[in-house]
Amino acid sequence: MKKTVLKFGGSSLADSGQFKKVRDIILSEDGKTYVVVSAPGKRSPSDTKVTDMLYSAYDAASRGRNYSEILENIRRRYLEIVTALEISFDLDKEISEIAKRLETDPQVDYVVSRGEYLNARIFSAFLGFEFVEPAECVFFNADGTLNQDRTYSELNKKLENLDHAVIAGFYGAFEDGRIHTFSRGGSDISGSIAARAVNADVYENWTDVSGMLSADPRIVKNPKSIETISYRELRELSYMGASVMHEEAVFPVRAAGIPINIRNTNRPEDRGTWIVSHNSTAGSSAVTGIAGKKGFSTLLIEKAMMNNEVGFVAKLLNIFASRGVSVEHIPTGIDTITAVVDSDGFKRSKSEILDEIKEQLNPDTVIVESGLVLIAVVGVGMVYKKGVSATLFTALADADVNVRMIDQGSSEMNIIIAVDDSDYGKAVNAIYSAFFA
Ligand code: ASP
Repeated sequence: MKKTVLKFGGSSLADSGQFKKVRDIILSEDGKTYVVVSAPGKRSPSDTKVTDMLYSAYDAASRGRNYSEILENIRRRYLEIVTALEISFDLDKEISEIAKRLETDPQVDYVVSRGEYLNARIFSAFLGFEFVEPAECVFFNADGTLNQDRTYSELNKKLENLDHAVIAGFYGAFEDGRIHTFSRGGSDISGSIAARAVNADVYENWTDVSGMLSADPRIVKNPKSIETISYRELRELSYMGASVMHEEAVFPVRAAGIPINIRNTNRPEDRGTWIVSHNSTAGSSAVTGIAGKKGFSTLLIEKAMMNNEVGFVAKLLNIFASRGVSVEHIPTGIDTITAVVDSDGFKRSKSEILDEIKEQLNPDTVIVESGLVLIAVVGVGMVYKKGVSATLFTALADADVNVRMIDQGSSEMNIIIAVDDSDYGKAVNAIYSAFFA
């Protein structure tokens, strides 16, 4: 029988109207359905997510301040849902339990996980599906990493005999039973883990957009959506700032080759974006997507006969590593090397780093420049196509953009360029027009 894991984000379950849409989506699915839910999100741009309200309640409690008004606002969010959907659910009892914990033993992960817990309990009552408590089947090691073996086996044991279930997203527990959460947006990871545990046919991730866009809509007007993308392309684009779900959510399903389908709860008729092992549509377009990340600096180091000095690069990287500065790229010349680094980290220990470079590497010159943005042009299709670079750099030259650095990833599926901050919008639009218009 077909097995589907459907994860619904906060905006998909923000109020009773959204609950009904989600019910209709689930009931139209065939086979076994396992639903992973987030806490109620924003109903409008100025609204507050329940998880943020829970963080505020915890914050107030831990400072000895009054949190009852925040808890009352949370209760009202759920009351609207329970009342409108005529669900029999003892909300007051649940809210008092949270209040009791805030009073006697406030633990942040427990408190903020209640958004998902309550939503899952209410949604399971609404659908008549079994509620699955993640504290009993999603396990973390003492260092906060997922205990994968135990989690997959326990989750599988719980779900294999159920045709339908609702699982709360975002949290699990340590071995000693204490609640622990993933980082923010972590219900995406819960969904991916559930899909892996049951070896689902597909992991549907339902949100409020019809898939992933080929460029940032704040920069490019109405960019096309991506129909199909490979896990690797997605990884490149999300690392560079394009976000459609939690960055870590891809790994559990990727390892098992389970496709992800990003869908829109408000437009269920849209096909959304398919994230798959191999992007077979890649041949039709060289570029799948464009993404950019601001806040980089470059250090150009010049030294005559650098190439003969064994260990030069290792020493340079060690200097950055010992100061906790992340090095993104290291394009090299014969007697030059450039380190492209994260500006914030670099600024914090700039003078120490420069002193160490002078002392340990004895360079002829070091030139520091900041205010750079990295743009990644990603597509497995470019591996087989000629002229992609020509198109890219002609477009940038025509738009009068000065390219400050070029790095073609060793996978050959991305070209990364650095441009000045002020050229960012111009560059992305030029690239978009060249490949998508
Ligand atoms: N509710 C949590 C958050 O707002 C987790 C999630 O929505 O995935 O971060």
